[in-house]
Amino acid sequence: MSNASHRSALARGIKLLNKLLDPILDLVFPPKCEVCKQPGKAHLCPDCFSKIKFMKPHLGIYSVAVYEGTLREAIKRFKFHKRKNLAKPLGILLVQYLSQTPLKIEELDMIVPVPLHQKRFGERGFNQAEHLAQVVAKYHELPVVNAIQRIRNTKANFDLPRNERFANVREAFAVTQKGQVENKRVLLLDDIYTTGATIAECSKVLNAAGAKRIEILTLSRAMEVAA
Ligand SMILES: [Zn+2]
Repeated sequence: MSNASHRSALARGIKLLNKLLDPILDLVFPPKCEVCKQPGKAHLCPDCFSKIKFMKPHLGIYSVAVYEGTLREAIKRFKFHKRKNLAKPLGILLVQYLSQTPLKIEELDMIVPVPLHQKRFGERGFNQAEHLAQVVAKYHELPVVNAIQRIRNTKANFDLPRNERFANVREAFAVTQKGQVENKRVLLLDDIYTTGATIAECSKVLNAAGAKRIEILTLSRAMEVAA
């Protein structure tokens, strides 16, 4: 047996083993919805999915729904409890939402996720915006380009009072490679839109690097409590 056919026989063997193990694992760890814990194969069950009410675009920004209830719980599980299996259902939610908006994604060239700083990336191990971008990109056959990097660590904007949020992220971003976004039509993607400070800074660096068009998509929009 040649090395190559040996390897493919091995790969088939592993695949078969996984297939046999899957039902056993399902018995030991029954699959369930990450949010409501209802048993089932979906990491975000149809019941939870249907509770998320789509929002209309606001000031040209596309956000799927208000950061509350089921969506808030799902995002928290995804980000802070590192349940990466939620990337797919949340990404599908983005795709479904987009299909109901006037935004023509086929007119765009790439998806750029809002980056995490290296330090937070190290703690969390993944960039949630990038994982969401991958799902949308696969569906629409667009590339995900990590065109922006954080050049300084910032505090979590979410916890700061509004007046400090803009200062917190000012000059915190830069493009990774000159020319990567030049003349390109970009879909900038993040998980939560709060004051828009992060999105504004990212748009600024994309603009400065010559992006031709910038559209903004976020999974949720946090409504600020009036002071
Ligand atoms: Zn559920």
